[in-house]
Amino acid sequence: MDGRDGRDGRDGRDGDGTERSARRDDAVRAAVEQGLLGPGTPIVGLLDITGIREAAAELRAAFDAVTAPGTPVLHAFAVKATPLVPVLRLLHTEGIGAEVASPGELALARAAGVPPNRTVLDSPAKTPAELREALALGIAVNADNPQELDRIDALMRSATSRSPLGIRVNPQVGGGSIEATSTATATSKFGVALRDEGAHEWVVRAYADRPWLTRLHAHTGSQGIPLSLMVQGVAETYALAEEINRRLGRPQIDTLDIGGGLPVNFGSDDTTPTYAQYARLLSEAVPGLFDGRYGLVTEFGRSLLAKHGTVVARVEYAKSAGGRPVAITHAGVQVATRTVYAPGAWPLRIAAYDGKGRPKEGPAVVQDVAGPACFSGDLLAEGRALPLLEQGDHAAALDTGAYYFAHHYAYNSLARPGIYGFAPDGAGGIAFATVREPQSLDEIVAESGGAHTDSLTTLRAPDHR
Ligand SMILES: *Cc1c(COP(=O)(O)O)cnc(C)c1O
Repeated sequence: MDGRDGRDGRDGRDGDGTERSARRDDAVRAAVEQGLLGPGTPIVGLLDITGIREAAAELRAAFDAVTAPGTPVLHAFAVKATPLVPVLRLLHTEGIGAEVASPGELALARAAGVPPNRTVLDSPAKTPAELREALALGIAVNADNPQELDRIDALMRSATSRSPLGIRVNPQVGGGSIEATSTATATSKFGVALRDEGAHEWVVRAYADRPWLTRLHAHTGSQGIPLSLMVQGVAETYALAEEINRRLGRPQIDTLDIGGGLPVNFGSDDTTPTYAQYARLLSEAVPGLFDGRYGLVTEFGRSLLAKHGTVVARVEYAKSAGGRPVAITHAGVQVATRTVYAPGAWPLRIAAYDGKGRPKEGPAVVQDVAGPACFSGDLLAEGRALPLLEQGDHAAALDTGAYYFAHHYAYNSLARPGIYGFAPDGAGGIAFATVREPQSLDEIVAESGGAHTDSLTTLRAPDHR
């Protein structure tokens, strides 16, 4: 772990955690001062633009440091992680493309101006229409299974396409500590399960029969997956590409898509592991991947955005139950769905701020931090030692830039909070930019069938007189 030698750029531990928490504290205070957060708007999502730009630069530098000069490398952000158009645009300007997995995600990437040649389509349930559109646009597509490849065959017979095409394989190297996000288990629903009987030979034949199949894809990492297992997944995918090219006697596979899935440290402000560490491990374990014979695609999501988002909520009431203090806040299951339903797998750090948005001092008191939804399990944190949260204070759920407040869950018809990016204003203060407006009550009604109020009462029922 010698990331301080300068060769790999920042290693994420040279004080960037301290800088990050200082930027967050400034932003929370400014959000209260500038009225983004207050009694009438008791919850807000904040994105640290400086941090996002730094993460994108660290990712590019990490792979630049280990790839042969001139190797084409596309870092495609997994849109799933933070499906917000201005975020995709920001990443695009930082040299990061888009990995999309639904018509909605493709629409977001296009709205952000991400060009087709910087976009990759990967979902497990692509319809014929989606495939046709992707091939017409020239977007890279990874076929998930033999039936999907049949559909692509039909499209390739009827039209030409500039789309780079590949097959997604599952090296079945095993899962990590979180079952729901483990993609490389024996029975995972993704890709062609390579160790199943006949699968390996089927893949080799698929390439032999289709000179236009030039890519190979695997995505084996995710939260809870050890780096060694991610590296093994990439190594096995590389070995398969080498075998196919050797058996075909030509370098038909010219690009490997190694997926995303770098785990995120939810336990402190430090970035661990870093992209530099992962790229270095990969280059030691699979040197041939970086010698210039293969172009590379990566698909990182959570690791690019998680640590740059904070959801801040007002403490509406502070009460006590069974001798335990409970802060009733406006952030719960609607913005932290995974944490509320699976708290053991997805614990979040909570920071306490006072009514003015200043870090709250005081002795740690074991307390619950609850959300606004009407079920008892709606807890951001249970039995957490923090300075005592009181009415009018603020609770911040940290590291929520990916898979949290951008993934609204409409329980209790709670409104989607506004999301704002923040950066220094150049005069010692903080400037905010709107990423997403708070959802209005009219929008909630409209999205809940408001245009069809009488549709059920006027539907003719059988006459029972
Ligand atoms: C979800 C996903 C990613 C991103 O995973 P992270 O853990 O957010 O980095 C990348 N590729 C595919 C195919 C995915 O499904």
